[in-house]
Amino acid sequence: MNVLKFIRYYLMTNLIGKPYLKRQRKIGERKIEKITGENSPLNPPLKITAYTKEFVSSHYFKGRYIEGVKPVAWVTSGAPIEILKALGFFLIYPENHAALCGARRVQMDLIKTAQKQGLSQNVCSYVRTDIGSLLSGKTPAGKLPKPDLLVACSNICQTVLHWYRMLQEYLNIPLVIIDTPFVYRDIEPHQVDYVKKQLKNVLLPIAERAAGKSLKEKDLKEVIKFSKDATELWLEILNLCAKRPSPLTVFDQFVFMAPIVEMRGDRETVDFYNTMYKEVKFRVNSGIGAIKKEKRRLLWDNLPIWFKMRELALKLAEKGINIPISTYTYAWGELAPLMDLNKDEFEVMARVYLSPILNRGAGHKLKTMADMVKRFNLDGVILHSDRSCKPYSMGQMDQRNKLIEEFSIPAMLLEADQNDENAYSEEQTVIRIESFFEMLGVSNG
Ligand code: SF4
Repeated sequence: MNVLKFIRYYLMTNLIGKPYLKRQRKIGERKIEKITGENSPLNPPLKITAYTKEFVSSHYFKGRYIEGVKPVAWVTSGAPIEILKALGFFLIYPENHAALCGARRVQMDLIKTAQKQGLSQNVCSYVRTDIGSLLSGKTPAGKLPKPDLLVACSNICQTVLHWYRMLQEYLNIPLVIIDTPFVYRDIEPHQVDYVKKQLKNVLLPIAERAAGKSLKEKDLKEVIKFSKDATELWLEILNLCAKRPSPLTVFDQFVFMAPIVEMRGDRETVDFYNTMYKEVKFRVNSGIGAIKKEKRRLLWDNLPIWFKMRELALKLAEKGINIPISTYTYAWGELAPLMDLNKDEFEVMARVYLSPILNRGAGHKLKTMADMVKRFNLDGVILHSDRSCKPYSMGQMDQRNKLIEEFSIPAMLLEADQNDENAYSEEQTVIRIESFFEMLGVSNG
């Protein structure tokens, strides 16, 4: 560790960042208290919204000064990060960073930069956003720390393999790729073995070298416990959304899920979701819904359209439609039961990281959706056909038809993109949504 860099990190984060972000949170909370929502179809936001902003911003703020203080790794969202956390790595998730750029609507400028350098518009818009940010140095996070290590896991898509090889070439640092075989039905013992070996024999030694220390079993156990606790709380929060009216919309969940993705494995993340659970439970007990008049409830499939969240939330709420759950936000909660603290840690991680929804067959997703419709008392499904995320969107046409024909569940496809505004048509979206509303019998508000 570089002592001067540590002093700078300590001063900047503790004496400047922390008090500043805390003050911003208090201001945010006071603002929320004053929102009556009189003219809005939505009830006032949860108080935790201001805390979420503080929590996520403080992570990125620390990142600005972390180089030379802790080893840094850039990882894919489905990477087995518990090993890295236990070795003291500071983690950056380029996918989350791209989502942040989309939600703040600064992504198109970055996408243009990447495309000017030759990236095709057919490449996932997260990749284009992040490569544009790397090349231009522009980011709403202020500055992203340069990594010492890259870790990509194939459990979400093959795109990340090309993306991280590009990063490796550009940054000239080690890259570890964890290959997870596709799970068609149940996870097979040989699949667990294959992933476990890669974690033990490939990721661990390379990560230990980059961190300059050896992994301690007790640290790994502790990190897995924090991951499990946070994931369980997230699952409990989402399950509360089965109540009528639902205390959250999916648009809230897309924002509140940031810590479960980029800060799982930390004690503070468990505290964060504990606080959120209490507030959400209070809303349920008090009968306060996220929207004022919840007439219909839908399921969302796939990633959000980050740059259209607010507009969509309002458009739906005006018609009395809530989306209380999605396959995307629920996918993180589903991993909780797999984190068995009594089993070998590497075995647990192998099972968990073989299980993400994108590493399983389309039939599994169809079954998950049909089950969710029942459990969450839903009236229909919006399948976001995301031009960027081919693995998530693959099979959606069949899934939609099966939902309608086999399960008698109304379903519609909505063609868009999570970050690329050029692949989004406002006019088409409005027409499609309006006709779906009509089918649900809510055309007149
Ligand atoms: S293709 Fe999908 S899973 Fe892969 S990086 Fe893009 S959004 Fe993520």
